[in-house]
Amino acid sequence: MKYVLVTGGVVSGLGKGVTASSIGVVLKACGLRVTSIKIDPYLNTDAGTMSPFEHGEVFVLDDGGEVDLDLGNYERFLDVRLTRDNNITTGKIYQSVLDKERKGDYLGKTVQVVPHITDAIKNWIESVSAIPVDGEEGPADVCVVELGGTVGDIESMPFLEALRQLSFSVGQDNFCLIHVSLIPVLGVVGEQKTKPTQHSVRELRALGLTPHLLACRSAQPLLENTKEKLSQFCHVQVGNILNIHDVPNIWHVPLLLRNQNAHDAILKQLDLLRVATRPDLQEWTKRAETFDNLTNSVRIAMVGKYVGLNDSYLSVVKALLHACIACSLKPSVDWIAASDLDDDSKQLTPEAHAAAWETLRNAACILVPGGFGDRGVKGMMLAAKYARENEVPYLGICLGMQIFVIEFARSVLHLETVNSEEFDAETPNPVVIFMPEGSRTQMGSTMRLGSRRTLFQTPDCITAKLYHNSEYVEERHRHRYEVNPDMISMLEEAGLTFVGKDESGKRMEILELPSHPFYVGVQFHPEFKSRPGRPSAPFLGLILAATGQLEAYVTKHQNGSL
Ligand code: GLN
Repeated sequence: MKYVLVTGGVVSGLGKGVTASSIGVVLKACGLRVTSIKIDPYLNTDAGTMSPFEHGEVFVLDDGGEVDLDLGNYERFLDVRLTRDNNITTGKIYQSVLDKERKGDYLGKTVQVVPHITDAIKNWIESVSAIPVDGEEGPADVCVVELGGTVGDIESMPFLEALRQLSFSVGQDNFCLIHVSLIPVLGVVGEQKTKPTQHSVRELRALGLTPHLLACRSAQPLLENTKEKLSQFCHVQVGNILNIHDVPNIWHVPLLLRNQNAHDAILKQLDLLRVATRPDLQEWTKRAETFDNLTNSVRIAMVGKYVGLNDSYLSVVKALLHACIACSLKPSVDWIAASDLDDDSKQLTPEAHAAAWETLRNAACILVPGGFGDRGVKGMMLAAKYARENEVPYLGICLGMQIFVIEFARSVLHLETVNSEEFDAETPNPVVIFMPEGSRTQMGSTMRLGSRRTLFQTPDCITAKLYHNSEYVEERHRHRYEVNPDMISMLEEAGLTFVGKDESGKRMEILELPSHPFYVGVQFHPEFKSRPGRPSAPFLGLILAATGQLEAYVTKHQNGSL
């Protein structure tokens, strides 16, 4: 196995994840099989308990792993399916060492950060890098390991030590270190400053790691003399100093790397020049350029709880982007804080209320994404009602589907008291109930997580057609509550159709309102499997409906011409 380690210096938020995934893309384009590992040096075991407000979305994998959103970038860029073990955290490493200590596996030895934690890290990396993630058999050729945080952070020290040891044990030809850094420009002088990078490289070298390449982030392209200075002071050849300056969209990043011959430098370091081909990035070039040249856009209202931070719904935004591009449109996402739409806000913050409604009314379609807890639920319900009554295309994902059902039962069936047990545990009329897959009494791991099969109940519905007339789909889940099976017949008599169910027939997965142009709810999260060039069906349906193209698409597709 050959390793490419990507570290970061100077500041966080440099786009290290995008840089590391783009390096993977370029290597893949050279005919190599690539896998990836993301290291998060925090103590949480996984991202499952972390707030999207603070840390961005929790990405869900096929195996139910709740992981850092960077793994979403890897899956989308490299078109792979990762496992929960591809995300290493300090919490996971310590837990495995402490479990072994309790079992007595250390035979009376003093258990220490070095060598026990560092050994656990090395072993983890070596065994997980061998798991195939691209559908082929056998281990990949190259594993891109991204170390989260910034070099010098106290919490990343054991990882850097473990990686130093790994570089030594796997040998020169199997290890390539790329350090991502920032080149700021200072105000009046306008000079590109190399000192912060010099310091962070020095820090790295003090820890026994020498970067083979630098990937310098900057607003404008780096000047030749900036590169020379960096080379001189950081001990990296000029040809190995890559520059990732700001680009119009992230799909340009692999192209930027290729144009600077990043692949040659990496392949040379890894002694892979003989086996690799010239990088073929035609598809990426086309995608990046197509996006730059799009002129028309479609307005999508996103009514959610965590609208302060775009990363909170990163995969939803990416899925919208993939769907829009397939329709030759640019997405224009209007974020609406759900609580601004409700009646309390009308009293307390009338301006925000008016603005939120104005935005909602101007949108071509409405999306209510997943979420937890009852904050903003009243506003989401109003958005769903507005979409239903005004024939505005609506897609409800997970919580958004539950909102759809509650609103429908209240407004159409006039069951004003129905609710979800999540919002009112004592509700006399639960239309959405707690339905764990395991124990009902145990709270830990009661979430229904990961890939599950949904069977279409009829081929004659919009979603089945959008999913290319498949009999079933496998999508990823992350929820505790579901539509109450006892209320299905009542809801169906009133006009809803549950067109997708799980294999037991008890769990409602896809919901449509046939009397409406596009009113769809899905209990799963289709956003996690959306890929550039392969948009997710429910998202594509929403955008097609928003732009009046849904019917034509479905007809064309049925005739077998798509
Ligand atoms: N809170 C809801 C549940 O647990 C929805 C979860 C979600 O949207 N991911 O079922």
